This record gives sequence, C-alpha cells and structure tokens, in this order.
Amino acid sequence: MKDLLYYQDVMLREFDAHIVSKETDEAGRHFVVLSNTAFYPTGGGQPHDTGTLNGIEVIDVEKIDEEIRHYIQGSLSELDDVVHGELNWSRRFDHMQQHAGQHILTAAFVELFDAQTVSFHLGSEQVTIDIAVDALTEQQLAAAEARANEIILENRSIETTWITENELGNYHLRKEVAVTGDIRLVIIPNYDYNGCGGTHPTTTGQVSAIKILGTEKMKGNVRVSFVCGQRVLNELAMRKKVLADVARQLSVPEVEAATALSKVLSVQKNTEKALAAAKEELLTYEAKALVPNSEGVVTATFQQRTMQELQKIARMIVSEQLDITALLVSESEGKLQFVAARGKNVSKSMKVIAEKALPLINGKGGGSDQMVQGGGECTISKEELLEAMQNA
Ligand SMILES: [Zn+2]
Repeated sequence: MKDLLYYQDVMLREFDAHIVSKETDEAGRHFVVLSNTAFYPTGGGQPHDTGTLNGIEVIDVEKIDEEIRHYIQGSLSELDDVVHGELNWSRRFDHMQQHAGQHILTAAFVELFDAQTVSFHLGSEQVTIDIAVDALTEQQLAAAEARANEIILENRSIETTWITENELGNYHLRKEVAVTGDIRLVIIPNYDYNGCGGTHPTTTGQVSAIKILGTEKMKGNVRVSFVCGQRVLNELAMRKKVLADVARQLSVPEVEAATALSKVLSVQKNTEKALAAAKEELLTYEAKALVPNSEGVVTATFQQRTMQELQKIARMIVSEQLDITALLVSESEGKLQFVAARGKNVSKSMKVIAEKALPLINGKGGGSDQMVQGGGECTISKEELLEAMQNA
C-alpha cells in the first residue's frame, strides 16, 4: 500500500508500469492490473481517477481484494507489457482540493464547537458533511467557514505518515481509526490529525478557498454543503449569471434585486385579488342578463369557462328566480362541461338531466336533485348537448 504511486507522490500525473494481468469481470467490463499505479481507486468518500493507459480511456478504477482494477474503454488486446499512464489531472486535483477542504472544515467545526463530522460525500458538484448536532446557527457556519479559510491562507503543510496500531497512542486523532495494520495519517500540524487513505494536496493553500452553500437537517444531524477550489469560482460564476439575469429583468442593480422582486410579488398578489373580484362582478352581470324562456328555463353556452364559473352563474340565477331552471354548457380545451340547477319552487330533479347528458359525451359527473354538473368529450356540439338537456 505504502508503495502505491498515488501515495508516494500525490502530485504525480504520468507514470510507466507493467501489466500484471488483463481480465474481464462478471459484468463484461475489461480491466487491467498494473505493477504500480497513480490512479486512485474509489474509496474513503473520494471518487476514482480517470485518464488513459497508452491513450486508451480509463473510465473506472476500483480496489477489490488489494487488487487495483483499471477499467478501460476498448479492447484488452491494445495493451501489452509496459504502459504509460496519464491522469485526468483536473478531475484528480479537484478531488484533492475538495477532500483536503473537507478535513479543514471538519476540523474547524471540532475546534470551534466540538461538533464532530459523522459522514462525508464528495459529489460531482458539491461536497457534504453530516455534523452530529441538532442545529447550526448562521453565526456558527460563518465562523467555521472563516476559520477554514484562515487555515487555507496560512498555507500550512499537509503531511502524511504511516504508523502501526501500536503507535496510535502518540497522536491525538480527530476520530477513531477503523482500519488495522498499516495506518495512514493525514496531518495538518497543530490543527488536524486524521486517519485517511485519500489524496490531498501538500499544502492547505492549494485548496484555494472554501464556501459553505447551505445546510439541511438529516437524520438527527445537520448536513453542510460546501465547495472548495475551482468549484468556488464555478459556483460564483453560475450565481452571478442568474442574479444578473434576474436584475436585468427587474431593471434594477443586482444588489436591489431581492427588494424589487418582493415588490413585484406584492403587486401581483393585489392584482390577482382585484382580478378575482372583477370576475365575480362580471359573473353577476352575466347571470342577470340571461333571460328565461316561456317554459321557465335559462339556457346559455360559453367558451373557456371553468366549472366553478358555471356553478356560480347557475347559483346566482336560481337563487334569485325560484321558478327557474338554469342549463349551462361550456366548451374549453376540447372538453364539454355542463351545469343544471333549479330554483326552490321547481320540482323536477336535475339528476334526470345529468343521466341524459353524460352518456352523450362519455362523461362523468353527478350532484343533487337541486344541482348537477358533469364533463366529457366533444362528441357533439355544445348546442346539441344543451338541446338534449332541455329535452330531458
Ligand atoms: Zn482525507
């Protein structure tokens, strides 16, 4: 383990090695095992490296029973004897920045608030740590972030050393080490002592910066999301673009965008209220304008009315004219909808009308003797539906 190239020289981007074996796994994926490697396999919360072997893509690296498998995109016959490996360095260095940043931030929470990190995930966009506390205040988050950036700015060394279990007592580790045998410590002197098998840059300055992006409660812990290094600039660029777009649409400077948006939303809420009141008033006028025929039936067809609007108009009509039946049909978005309502002095059940209307439009609906409603397909015109309802 100690002799692995990615432990010998964490900054190594290229190397030569012999092929030890070439195989295909149960899933049909081709892999090679090398005499030594700078490719880091998935482990300890850090994703695997990618790169090439003699120009052939390495798409996955896994460690299985002490064997490091380099899964390749292509035929095994293309690789023989000695290979030249090249890492996708921007991916690896990004992982190193995030991973070391995690050590630094985690140690800041311990130093300032005695709050332990219980798990760590290095995602493709953000990094998260779960901290064993019920809650973290904005001030605590700001303090931990500031302390972490201070450690980065001081450009302290990040050292690694191999020790045995017996030597563990000589170090004040942040948490207990789960492995046995040779143990690898990652040390930021006078700040953090931690058992870890991942890759980290050699100084804290290479982490460049840490920015906490958010928190959420997670199974009794608080999950803190953050980014380090180049990802801080990527996040800033993304947020800058979004904020600039919002500010442009609101025609205000970026710093005033939130206030301007609050105003827009408040105006919109008032407009919606006023519009609803105006619609209600309009329905009243519409209902009054509908005149019953000689048989005491009010009929009307509409376009694009909601069921709620039809019901309101019908109720307005029959609540004021007790001897009247109201039959209303609306067509909207390829559907037919109807309402039938009776005044208090009308004895005929409106269910009779629904029973007649619904089969004609393959519809569904129902209601009471006083009022029914239903909706279905445009199998007939709204005028034909209305006529059928009148004749029910
Ligand atoms: Zn680590």
